[in-house]
Amino acid sequence: MKVTVDMTSCERYGHCCFEAPTVFELDDDGELQYRSDVTDVDAGQLHAAARACPVQAITLDAD
Ligand code: SF4
Repeated sequence: MKVTVDMTSCERYGHCCFEAPTVFELDDDGELQYRSDVTDVDAGQLHAAARACPVQAITLDAD
């Protein structure tokens, strides 16, 4: 699975960070940091993060 975030849409709400904390993180400046290669992360967590995003900025692509 690969993760992409549309950073022009992201409003830094942080819901994704709560759902999948090993993938998404708000840094000290409040900017979203994430990793796109997430083969080690449970798919349920990734889907929960995508669903939780209020602006649907998260795209998941199956490998
Ligand atoms: S939940 Fe969506 S808007 Fe909020 S930080 Fe994550 S990607 Fe950005």
